[in-house]
Amino acid sequence: KLKNEVQELKGNIRVFCRVRPGLNGHEASSDIYKLNTRDGMITAANPAVAPGKGDQWKFKFDNVFHALSTQEQVFDEVSQVVESSLDGYSVCLFAYGQTGSGKTYTMLGNGSAAIEEHGVIPRATRLVFDRANELQEEGWTYTLKASFLEIYNDDIWDLLPKDGDERTPLNMRMSKGSQSRHVHGLNEIQVTSPEQVNMLIKKSMAKRATAATKMNEKSSRSHSVFRIHISGHRETSNQTVESALNLIDLAGSERLKSSGSEGERLKETQHINKSLTALGDVIMALSNRRSHIPYRNSKLTEVLEDSLGGNCKTLMFVNVSPSEASFSESMQSLRFASKVN
Ligand code: ADP
Ligand code: MG
Repeated sequence: KLKNEVQELKGNIRVFCRVRPGLNGHEASSDIYKLNTRDGMITAANPAVAPGKGDQWKFKFDNVFHALSTQEQVFDEVSQVVESSLDGYSVCLFAYGQTGSGKTYTMLGNGSAAIEEHGVIPRATRLVFDRANELQEEGWTYTLKASFLEIYNDDIWDLLPKDGDERTPLNMRMSKGSQSRHVHGLNEIQVTSPEQVNMLIKKSMAKRATAATKMNEKSSRSHSVFRIHISGHRETSNQTVESALNLIDLAGSERLKSSGSEGERLKETQHINKSLTALGDVIMALSNRRSHIPYRNSKLTEVLEDSLGGNCKTLMFVNVSPSEASFSESMQSLRFASKVN
């Protein structure tokens, strides 16, 4: 039995690469990257070296998306994993990459109301509700609860706090009658329609925007975890399922040099580096079937402990910018992603 479980695990980690369009028009790919979307290959050539004169790197992922790939095409490739959350699999879907590489575009969209621009979160939400409705005909009743949190400098903040709740960081606590831990005091809101979920996210974003003057900067320096907790019950066969769908916009992965860090910035960058390293270590330990999985090295991996490993599916987008100026950061991202793949 164990062997099957372990094999299942190995197959449960997927990495997709997505190259953002250039800011001056929608070129399909830049001179730096050659993509073979069918075989999931991306070849990166150093822009400082004349074309064809060496310094080339090849990476293979489960999927690569070029600058003209639409939000719909991208979602088509993740919808199966999202759907499996109703069958009891917990899911973590991450966007990794430097600031400006398209993580938020991939996860949420560009803020436009146009459905074509919607990213993974609104599309996944809709799919979960649609699928729950379908399964109702087979006798299943689902309860869906949404929560949204942010991890900034290793502090956990509720992005959907109850009205009037004091703004203080939250802590992890042991759950009663189980070995696992949860974010104590995190507001979980029972949701009954995708429109309600979109409203909650919009409200949360608007609040965030007025709360901090440097909100844009800060949000790219923090990890955000949007979660739909799913519990299903089928009376006729006395079956239950319980899982969580986690959709995560990671903090910008840029290194110290390029963010010109000092003071507050330095501290942020150190926290980000530590937590992204911890995440990579956990995913690698899972895919290498290690007996010890180092969840406790960062708040990010602690918060996601129940949804990483075991009966869980993990999918990571590595987002890269096509610009020459971003070449070394993009290489770092591609290396990180191919290590966890
Ligand atoms: P990040 O969240 O990684 O900092 P963003 O998602 O904010 O990056 O992307 C930076 C800018 O590029 C935004 O204006 C975003 O709308 C745009 N953008 C990113 N990816 C795409 C894409 N695939 N197609 C069109 N515009 C994109
Ligand atoms: Mg962003």
